[in-house]
Amino acid sequence: MQNKSTKYLALIMIILFPLGNFIKAQDTYQRNTSADVQGYIFNLSLNDENNEIKGEAEITVAFKNEVNAFALDLIAKSGNYGMQVSNIFEGDKVANYNYVSNKIKITPFSSEEKIRTYKVVYKGIPERGLVIDTTKFGQRSFFGDNWPNLARHWLPSVDHPSDKATIEFRIKAPDHYDVVATGEKIEESNLKNGYKLTTYKEPAPVAMKVVTIGVTEFASKLLDEVNGIPVSAWVYPENRLDGFSDYGVASKVLKYFIDNIGPYAYAKLANMQAKTQWGGLENAGTIAYFENSVTGKNEVEGLIAHEIAHQWFGNSATENDWNHVWLSEGFATYFAILYQESVYGDEKRKEELELDRKNIIDYYLKNAAPIVDPSITDPLKVLSANTYEKAGWVLNMLRHKLGDETFWKGIQAYYKAFRNSNVLSTDFQKIMEETSGEDLDEFFQQWIFTKGHPQLKLNWTYKKKKLQINLEQLQKHHVFKFPLEIGVIKDGKIIIHKTEVHTALKNYTIKLDSEPDKVILDPQSWLLFEEK
Ligand SMILES: [Zn+2]
Repeated sequence: MQNKSTKYLALIMIILFPLGNFIKAQDTYQRNTSADVQGYIFNLSLNDENNEIKGEAEITVAFKNEVNAFALDLIAKSGNYGMQVSNIFEGDKVANYNYVSNKIKITPFSSEEKIRTYKVVYKGIPERGLVIDTTKFGQRSFFGDNWPNLARHWLPSVDHPSDKATIEFRIKAPDHYDVVATGEKIEESNLKNGYKLTTYKEPAPVAMKVVTIGVTEFASKLLDEVNGIPVSAWVYPENRLDGFSDYGVASKVLKYFIDNIGPYAYAKLANMQAKTQWGGLENAGTIAYFENSVTGKNEVEGLIAHEIAHQWFGNSATENDWNHVWLSEGFATYFAILYQESVYGDEKRKEELELDRKNIIDYYLKNAAPIVDPSITDPLKVLSANTYEKAGWVLNMLRHKLGDETFWKGIQAYYKAFRNSNVLSTDFQKIMEETSGEDLDEFFQQWIFTKGHPQLKLNWTYKKKKLQINLEQLQKHHVFKFPLEIGVIKDGKIIIHKTEVHTALKNYTIKLDSEPDKVILDPQSWLLFEEK
């Protein structure tokens, strides 16, 4: 997901405790102890008379341990908005449930049956989550926009990324609409009463934050097939050709990530022009891009790369806890850079990282917190330059530390291990340690669980054929340890010297025949630091 600022720029916390349960405690979502949703079938009826939706949600639950009570999220009616539940069934019997404070609490009938299906019958006008409005061209439209936890406004569900399930949408809507949704289209039937039924099914488990529907009058096109995955564009008819052209780069991006990370997890890749509060929202296999993303000038390649990278990181390997959202946003940020580097070269990588460095430093001035910040409990507040740009930089530094070959091997092993699953920072660290054979505890503690970055003061002198470099870390809360490249420039030529910095004060001597014109730190953009 990205905010709507130009250059798809994203946007906007302690630390350092031995990893493990303490950090996990920060995301305050009340998780079900045994119930694990396996699949959702959402039957939804939409109409043109009003914004009321009618729903029948079939929810299949497996009880991992004992069969006990569990809860679903659904925002109840208050005032004009919210849902009214008319009935809930366990199998074909009326279920034993209560519906309080936007939580449907179901107590299963006592039986040994470990897998059960519940049906929730409800209706209402969603305040959020499903955006019922008109497109910028005035056409009535319905767009899902669930991130982070807005699915509960229109879909009874376990609305937290830790519980992923297969999805099927059966959308009944006036027949002049085109419908796209999470999954593969398995049915489109005219119901001969002015309505049409369109069904999409996604066999891979997906988190509610990234399921969606798009219902309006679309211009849609199959752009390409990549490794058997259909890549399509769904845009407003008024933007037909510009939209097909601007979203056309998606197949190239998809191929790059499949070739370098691993197999794509979902049934299709649709790129949808939509009403969304974000610049882009990485819905699984049905990505939403802000309405003005279509200009015909191919201005959103970086945004498209970011949202497609999320299909691997955030959607397939999903943070198990909002405080670890960098595993989604940091990865998407850096893999969008890697894609652009593969197309435009290393200068593009440096250019992107230098823009990000500025955002990180600006953000730190106001928010001195680590990337994994246990003090944040509101999922919306986990988005910041820490979890996007800084986390992207951390991956850049990890790549530099391990080398390209080991870095990519580790990334492939990480995805293989956690595809269609949930992750925490320790899981990623462990895989990178196993792949590289290196102990990365210090690296992760320093860059993920410690606030800040090295604030470096460089002084140098040249005397008697020796360049004397003096480097001071000015920040007081932590002495960072890092590999450093020093660029010595003479007559326009640069020679790079490598060293390791482990102390607050570092003196380093380089034998040189003549005095350099300039000495610069990190000419290749491999270290996140602030020059003072
Ligand atoms: Zn994102």
